[in-house]
Amino acid sequence: MKNLNCRNCGGPMLIDPSGTTARCPYCRTDYVLDHKDTDYYREFYARMKSFFRLSADGQERRRRADELWKQAEQETFSCSDGRQINVASLHRYSDRVMTAYTARQSVIFRFEPGQTENADKYRRAVSMLDYPSADVRNLSRFFPVISGGFSLTDDSVLLAVKKSEDEYPLRLFGKLSGRHTAWLIGRMENLCCVLEYSSIVHPDFGIDTIYIDPYDHQASLYGGWWNAVRNHTAVNGKVLTTRHNLTALRETAAQVLGFPNAAAAKETDDIPKPFADFLKSEPESNAYDDFAKWDDVLIRSYGERKFITMDTDDEQIYGKGT
Ligand SMILES: [Zn+2]
Repeated sequence: MKNLNCRNCGGPMLIDPSGTTARCPYCRTDYVLDHKDTDYYREFYARMKSFFRLSADGQERRRRADELWKQAEQETFSCSDGRQINVASLHRYSDRVMTAYTARQSVIFRFEPGQTENADKYRRAVSMLDYPSADVRNLSRFFPVISGGFSLTDDSVLLAVKKSEDEYPLRLFGKLSGRHTAWLIGRMENLCCVLEYSSIVHPDFGIDTIYIDPYDHQASLYGGWWNAVRNHTAVNGKVLTTRHNLTALRETAAQVLGFPNAAAAKETDDIPKPFADFLKSEPESNAYDDFAKWDDVLIRSYGERKFITMDTDDEQIYGKGT
């Protein structure tokens, strides 16, 4: 995906899900995009969302991925041991701490010189993850597995985290419909349950740290782990608890639905009232109760839960007149 740089400070900008505005994460300047760029991003999002439509077989997935990866940007990094690492990335985002590159089978975090202790923080936070002893649902698949770390000649550090080829940052899908978002909320509640079980608060939980697989309808939490802390840790004078994860879940859902924030969520043709009310609601005291609440909201919003491919419309799923 094409990168736009801030006219003020040169930083790479983040494009909002509507494809109409961009924000610089460094200097916080907001821009309104011109029509050409808006068309480009909307087209890109539409293409990513088209992956939701079919339960494509392996061959078809590869073909689409090959097509998409033709527009990858190449970057070469020099390791202090003399090796060169080539990274082809579809998307990158940066903040003062790092740049995250979405490569085909990994997410590469490059920590700036002076910020390299965040690579250790990432490792430490991930090692705090704990799963129910049976982990029958294989929840560990949706959390980072670190595949390598490299010191570079410019004193920055690379950390490589595995991902499946079909996982992409949530931001690359733009605005989602109510049903798509309902599916996403279920997956995010799952992620929050693991964070709850592990007593971890993940302050960066959101559109740039969550990666989704449009074919298998899965969501993984790969970014931002350097800022993760234990439940009830004071950060900048504020005590963070796991309820913070559930607030972030609501904000993320509101953002992909195109609302400025969760408090602004409202009933529309696409978003039933119980759904909008859920987004505006205070989280339950823990993720397990919040997930149960969401399950109830889902039934009140869309009726009995049925497995759907994400672009199926209501009529196809529920039949006429039901
Ligand atoms: Zn800027």
